[in-house]
Amino acid sequence: MSQTIGFYGAAQTVTGSKHLLTLNGKKILVDCGIFQGNRELRDRNWQPFPFDPTELDAVVVTHAHMDHIGMIPKLVREGYQGPIYCTPATLGLSKISLPDSGRIQEEDARYANKKGSRHTPALPLYTEQDAYACLKRFVTMPYGELQPLPGGGTFKYLPAGHILGSAFAEIYFENGERILMGGDLGRFNTPIIKDPTTVEFAEYLVVESTYGDRLHAHEDTVGKLEEILNHAAGVGGAVLLPTFSIGRTQEVLFYLRQLQDQGRMPRMPIFVDSPMAISATRLYADAKEEHDQDMKIAVDNDASSLEPHLLSLIRDSEQSKALNKQVGPMIIIAGSGMANGGRIVHHLKNRLGNPATTVVFTGYQGEGTLGRRLIDGEPTVQIHHEEVQVRAHITKLNSLSAHADQEEIMTWLKNFKTPPKMTFIVHGETKAQEALQAKIHSDLGWKTTVPSQGQEFNL
Ligand SMILES: [Zn+2]
Repeated sequence: MSQTIGFYGAAQTVTGSKHLLTLNGKKILVDCGIFQGNRELRDRNWQPFPFDPTELDAVVVTHAHMDHIGMIPKLVREGYQGPIYCTPATLGLSKISLPDSGRIQEEDARYANKKGSRHTPALPLYTEQDAYACLKRFVTMPYGELQPLPGGGTFKYLPAGHILGSAFAEIYFENGERILMGGDLGRFNTPIIKDPTTVEFAEYLVVESTYGDRLHAHEDTVGKLEEILNHAAGVGGAVLLPTFSIGRTQEVLFYLRQLQDQGRMPRMPIFVDSPMAISATRLYADAKEEHDQDMKIAVDNDASSLEPHLLSLIRDSEQSKALNKQVGPMIIIAGSGMANGGRIVHHLKNRLGNPATTVVFTGYQGEGTLGRRLIDGEPTVQIHHEEVQVRAHITKLNSLSAHADQEEIMTWLKNFKTPPKMTFIVHGETKAQEALQAKIHSDLGWKTTVPSQGQEFNL
């Protein structure tokens, strides 16, 4: 009997998760994510896979974020023919986001060819067609159900509390030992979806460390939102919320409905201007098996927790443009969350010059993004090759995040009754990984390692 694990993504970096388990010679890939960020990272997506896709025996997906599923279309196009396991909600979200990603890849290639690319002709990493093709290989597995794996293994999914459908994959070897593939670790006491599962035993553990060196702000999110909305209603301005389609949009809708139900919010129209966010919201509302207690009570009382009053859903791009002419207090929720693409960019271009506008960021703003420049207080920004004066009020909800922070990771780890033989720390920048490793060492005394790209271990 032999078991090994190799790390081919999210190793000393945040994105590109690809963990290869070998059980008695059979190869099981856990996640197949895309590298995101700077050019060096993005270039890795163009290199050949460090394993032969035709030789893989199974793929196990933890959740539907692109840095965990974004390379599956390429994997299947290059010959992978086995099952791709995921939870039902992960399939639902993948059906929305993978074809969209293929479409963007094709658009980028077209744009590069028009501009004169460093590769001629520029090709898409994969196409929308490739994305639809790979979805046929997805096999859904509800939480808790045991599924045999090649090489004598079995596995089951446990709720991870990160986004809808997110899971830890608990994989048992033939010898009875197990590895817990942590995917991304969510947070406790957030609305809509269940909290992360408490885990007490695993011989081996793979844990993420995105916020391994940080603590989320303890801010009264709903109170701050209330203040912002009441101010906006007073000055008659629009509130723009650049928001990720999956997870964050639904959380914001939940809070808006809560404010309305408690009579803490002025009457103002709410627009969700994003086809992807609209589809994702429907999945969130329908996935009853994923709901936490608050959400269950609301649904049982026939209240639509994700549907505030005066909500309009905007799919059509002409309707989206028509919003430019709308005046008076209103809320516009659109992607992307970092304002580096998507319909929010048009709204920003149109409304940043107006001092009555409020822009509320709802998550981390990466370096080099329009969101980061606005948060940093730049007086003018370039949008679509035009200088735009920033007169709007720019603010941020600090405590929203789908990832556990250092304290929350530690709280979750402290549930283990016996230390894992080895804890692999992945999915983080070096600084975050080192901080979490030091914290685990000092508080728990566990054996940990921070694998480097391509490093393999016997289990
Ligand atoms: Zn994630």
